[in-house]
Amino acid sequence: MTDDLAERKMQFMFALRSKGITDMAVLTAMEKVDRGLFVKGLFADRAYEDTPLPIPCGQTISQPSVVGLMTQALNVSPRDKVLEVGTGSGYQAAILSHLARRVYTVDRHRRLVTEAKQIFQDLDLANVTAFSADGSFGLPDQAPFDRIIVTAAAEDPPGPLLAQLKLGGIMVVPVGQSDAVQSMIKVVRGEDGFDYEEIRPVRFVPLVEGMARDN
Ligand code: SAH
Repeated sequence: MTDDLAERKMQFMFALRSKGITDMAVLTAMEKVDRGLFVKGLFADRAYEDTPLPIPCGQTISQPSVVGLMTQALNVSPRDKVLEVGTGSGYQAAILSHLARRVYTVDRHRRLVTEAKQIFQDLDLANVTAFSADGSFGLPDQAPFDRIIVTAAAEDPPGPLLAQLKLGGIMVVPVGQSDAVQSMIKVVRGEDGFDYEEIRPVRFVPLVEGMARDN
């Protein structure tokens, strides 16, 4: 690694800590997963900045500190089976693979799923399975899940996803209109129903129903 790259990676970890990511397991997972592998082309040299960046199919790889805060809120344990809706570049799923027992990730863009799968294979992340699917219906064949993370904004937490959450399970999801301010919320399923907690304002690309037609 060149000194410059090492320096940028140190700055990257420093930015995460200064934005409130304090969970050591999350920080360790984020240190292991090289964001540079998930950003290609024009923006590759900005991979270690704390900013969202464009990926194919008009989507974005989320801002690292937001990935960190969502992952921290998800409170993943090594026994957990996790569903991610919105594979995108695969970056969030790769981080989850270091924290969970099993990770399922789905995206409506086939091209993104194909490219992410290749990276998971190259990194030997054997506990991650990626599918092309409309994640607003969850993944009924693999349900229920201990944890669900949605990385695209829905108007409300989708009903099928709530239904696929185990008792005691946690879901983190950005909610709100796509162009307005959205809020990252944490949903916990208890004996008597669902508890909702607002974490912080965020901005995500929208959750869109149906498979994409452009690939
Ligand atoms: N977690 C990603 C970033 C996701 S960007 C990463 O780490 O890079 C949001 C993603 O959600 C996009 O790739 C978009 O295609 C996907 N998406 C939007 N609506 C969806 C749906 N209904 N089902 C599955 N994926 C969806």
